[in-house]
Amino acid sequence: MNAQVLQAVWAVVLLTGTGTVLGLVVGIVVKLFGAEIDPRIEEIEGLLPGANCGGCGFAGCVAFAEALAHGKAEPTACPSNSAAAVERICALLGVAAGTRNPKVAVVLCGGDNAKARQAALYNGVVDCKDAMLVAGGAKGCRFGCLGLGTCARACPFAAIEITAAGIARVHREFCTGCGKCVAACPRNLIRLVPADAPVHVLCSSPEKGAAKRGVCEVACIGCRKCVKASGEDHITMNGFLAVVNYDNPPTAEVAAVCPTGCLVATTPPAETETADPAREMVHA
Ligand code: SF4
Ligand code: SF4
Repeated sequence: MNAQVLQAVWAVVLLTGTGTVLGLVVGIVVKLFGAEIDPRIEEIEGLLPGANCGGCGFAGCVAFAEALAHGKAEPTACPSNSAAAVERICALLGVAAGTRNPKVAVVLCGGDNAKARQAALYNGVVDCKDAMLVAGGAKGCRFGCLGLGTCARACPFAAIEITAAGIARVHREFCTGCGKCVAACPRNLIRLVPADAPVHVLCSSPEKGAAKRGVCEVACIGCRKCVKASGEDHITMNGFLAVVNYDNPPTAEVAAVCPTGCLVATTPPAETETADPAREMVHA
């Protein structure tokens, strides 16, 4: 064996030996001083949706699982989780499940391209925030939905469709109430409301009735007919805009008195639709 081969063999032996010793030392240090990982964290994480939507108030599902294991969060705080999974988490933690008041998002605008006037042609980036930078957007109503799908792209559950008529619509059966779309909409048009709310005023413009009628045929014109029919406990006026009291909503029948059709009763989810988180709902 010549000197060079001998040197190489020694180098391999030395490196292997050093690596083994260091590995042993690290292992002993971790065993003696390392933090114990709560095995429930992984189990809880497996019971969470894994969408990392942040609706629970934590950075993601892992952070929420850790907070649950340390008693720093309520199992019901995840708006996206199923009742069965919440029950299993409660059983794992040995706590009682709190009350859940499921919420869903609703886009408070009904003025699609067939019913609301466009003031200009926008040919820029397909994004509502970008469109807002160009003279506030192309829509005649400066409070109306721009229909460019910023909310739909923000939704981790593909629950928002931009319809062929150019308006955002939430599919309640897929919406978990995580609120991502609420934060994404530059027009502040999306609100989280109780999932069983029977009616909504699909208008967000506070302008006077005549001004709104000039740009949209389904605007709230502030006629107060719904307030008279339901009582002020159920619907109140905010200037020229009727606002549903979601803590004490009117019955769905009140929608019939609205002369413009901006007060709409909640429609049941389409029977043909199935939950497929991979589907693409943006048609813009
Ligand atoms: S529609 Fe909004 S609230 Fe509902 S799941 Fe999508 S982002 Fe969340
Ligand atoms: S509701 Fe959606 S599509 Fe409409 S303006 Fe807001 S982000 Fe854009």
